Amino acid sequence: MIKLDFAKNKRYAVMGLGISGMLAARALAEAGADVLAWDNVDNARNHVSGIEGVKLENLAIRGLDKVDALILSPGIPHTYPKPHPVAAEAKRRGLPVIGDIELMLRALPNRKSVVITGTNGKSTTTALIGHLLGSIGLRVEIGGNIGRPVLNLNDPGHEGILVLELSSYQLELTPSIAPTIAVWLNISIDHIERHGNLAGYVEAKKRIFANQHGNSTAIVVVDDEPSTIVANALRQNGNNLIEVSQKRQILGGIYVDQGFLIDARSNQSHKIFDLNCVQSLPGAHNKQNAAAAAAACLALGFSREVIAKGITSFAGLAHRLELVAVYDNVAYVNDSKATNAAATAQALSYYNTIYWIVGGCAKEGGIEQLAPWFNRIKRAYLIGESACAFLHQIGNGCLTVLSYTLERAIRQAHAEALEDNIVGATVLLSPAAASFDQFPNFEVRGAQFKALVHTLTS
Ligand code: ADP
Repeated sequence: MIKLDFAKNKRYAVMGLGISGMLAARALAEAGADVLAWDNVDNARNHVSGIEGVKLENLAIRGLDKVDALILSPGIPHTYPKPHPVAAEAKRRGLPVIGDIELMLRALPNRKSVVITGTNGKSTTTALIGHLLGSIGLRVEIGGNIGRPVLNLNDPGHEGILVLELSSYQLELTPSIAPTIAVWLNISIDHIERHGNLAGYVEAKKRIFANQHGNSTAIVVVDDEPSTIVANALRQNGNNLIEVSQKRQILGGIYVDQGFLIDARSNQSHKIFDLNCVQSLPGAHNKQNAAAAAAACLALGFSREVIAKGITSFAGLAHRLELVAVYDNVAYVNDSKATNAAATAQALSYYNTIYWIVGGCAKEGGIEQLAPWFNRIKRAYLIGESACAFLHQIGNGCLTVLSYTLERAIRQAHAEALEDNIVGATVLLSPAAASFDQFPNFEVRGAQFKALVHTLTS
């Protein structure tokens, strides 16, 4: 656990006691701070009861007196749609409102870091960068939104490097963020309920560049319009910028051409590697991720050869186009992490004959943008609270069935795929929606899919 020595004899309020909030309360108390902690959920409060130095106090009633800062869980709104009362009160008093990542950065100043953000591909790119840097023997600590809270990391020291995946929510709570390398992957509509509109979402993410200085580099994938605007602004501002594309050649940058990763930073094109050969990175979107990861490592001074070698041994991540089984010509793919339509678009454009399990908590726009791929779908199995809304959005686009539950959807898709017996068919869980209506998180949803597939195919 990171030691927060700067916190000694200070007083902090911690609001939101999920894993990262609980760790923040614990780390602050261990450092000798006076900690007041609260969560509106009884169970979450149990996470900290009994920790010496942590006092449970309903912060909404009283508790911000003499406090040095409010540590807020990234899941709690502090601007839009309406600030949480405790966050509003902290701001009224002029207190810093920060998160666990800010605490870590204050404890470990001047460490080298690669920080990754974007709507989709963050975890894959973070894991790949961590893998590439680790494969050359660098001491790497990987954490943040990828599922490892940063206060659980170890100090990588001045020779090592932090590789951090940060969401827009986390960036808003991290005023000291100053990445050595900032990686911006893409932008599509997501999290509008927290940022109001696309502009608000982009502004929150742009905080990743806020404190970059002369020795730091911004890597921006310019395959969508909002990201291109961000890159142009950085260039005009004089930031060190490497542009990356999976869709077109970029002289002076890094790009992908017919699957080949190309380094054209010197305005001459050098082939790095044929990404078509990497099974763990299927689809055009993963080529985007690989190009961004390669750009980050090149910006840190590593050679094209080292990157080419490291990419081949990347294992990929679970729940992202994860091949679970192949049974009687049918592939079963778990893409539970596809929680928005832009992520699912990648899956639908990659496979051909698809038995598609879709639905959950719908995002802004639902699955409207997926219409161009409906002709690849044999049948859509609609689950979760969005089932009827998605049924309407699909209309006559493809055959549909209201399955409601994941279990029923898998059984139906399995039976129909076997009966049709089409070579190359895929039963695909790619929900284009969040999981919280029926599951605690996307991992549990994916795990249930995998368990049922194994039962049906073994
Ligand atoms: P994040 O951490 O940003 O959610 P992940 O790497 O976990 O990203 O991938 C989440 C989902 O997005 C998966 O369904 C994956 O197939 C899809 N995805 C991954 N990379 C990209 C990308 N560059 N563009 C669009 N979708 C992507």
